[in-house]
Amino acid sequence: MSKTPSFDKDRDYIGFATLPEQVHRKSVKRGFEFTLMVVGESGLGKSTLINSLFLGDLYKNRQMPNVEERIEKTTKVEKKTMDIEERGVRLRLTVVDTPGFGDAINCEDSWRVCTQYIDEQFRQYFTDESGLNRRNIQDNRVHCCLYFVPPWGHSLRQMDLDLIRRLHRKVNIVLVIGKADCLNKQEVRKLKERILQDLEDNHIQLYQFPECDSDEDEDFKQQDRELKASIPFAVVGSNTILEVAGKKVRGRQYPWGVVNVEDPEHSDFIKLRTFLISTHMQDLKDTTQDVHYENFRAQCISQISQHALRERGKLKRDSISSTNGFDAAISETDRLLLQKDEEIRRMQDMLTQMQEKLKQTHLMEMKKNDSVIDV
Ligand code: GDP
Repeated sequence: MSKTPSFDKDRDYIGFATLPEQVHRKSVKRGFEFTLMVVGESGLGKSTLINSLFLGDLYKNRQMPNVEERIEKTTKVEKKTMDIEERGVRLRLTVVDTPGFGDAINCEDSWRVCTQYIDEQFRQYFTDESGLNRRNIQDNRVHCCLYFVPPWGHSLRQMDLDLIRRLHRKVNIVLVIGKADCLNKQEVRKLKERILQDLEDNHIQLYQFPECDSDEDEDFKQQDRELKASIPFAVVGSNTILEVAGKKVRGRQYPWGVVNVEDPEHSDFIKLRTFLISTHMQDLKDTTQDVHYENFRAQCISQISQHALRERGKLKRDSISSTNGFDAAISETDRLLLQKDEEIRRMQDMLTQMQEKLKQTHLMEMKKNDSVIDV
């Protein structure tokens, strides 16, 4: 594809073939934003995995609560942001952690904190979108939730189901079996099968991989099949670089050998990284926008219109009742006026009668006087 159109050489060249380049240039200039929520009880290797995935140290100043603190502890939301640049492409990654999740004896509020946070971000985006400065909205919506399942259970626990059930229509949930080096291959397979069965039995739908386009090359299709088949990803994390057979690897050293985090035979770490960063990051963002945010937006709009309808109904009722009141007030005044009219008429009658009486008396007096004179 030639970058500058040559009008003399190629008369058929219109120029729209540069559109992908234009989009690419604009996106690179703007940079990308991605928000990942990490949920799971403490000690499951969440921070280690995030650091391993993004080659950073997001949890330098972390302080672990002691047992007493944990008993009463409520789930909090902690947000950490890092700017990463790779080959000129900038990514602003926000990791939303939920320390305290599942730590307290009463885990009721654990899921509430997560759902509230997700809703708040949607609400903020909805407000910003309806505002004046729509071009520069910061997108803090949660694009993906990595939910950590412990390797020591037989399947999902009630608290896992409780949370997933409440979140699966709000966010793209990706299940991860933490510390998978505790399990052998067969155990990993069994746990994955049981988890998938539990999800199906409870009608829970996690993030759905999009169908691979038929015109994609065979390698990509194969990779897509492998990614889909690995769900839920069984991962191992490590922040230690070890030397194995002259090669530096990210791994965990045990007395019996080394777990190489990036070896597909040891864990699904590379598959998770490929999925999350290289192949499906944009689709996670698109699904957030087109499915989860649209759901939220539709609910908001329906609530707003219902509220407006209620208000209009109330206004109408108020105006009708005030008109009725006016009528009532008028008829009351009329009634009073009629009463007064009646009173005035009666008094006028009385006055006329009295005048008549006075006149009669006067006449009689006169007649009397006349007769006296006559006598
Ligand atoms: P978080 O509380 O969920 O963030 O867990 P951390 O990442 O702080 O890990 C808790 C402990 O588990 C630390 O001692 C880690 O070194 C260890 N750890 C982390 N990832 C793994 C893993 O994949 N396998 C094993 N066996 N231990 C791990």
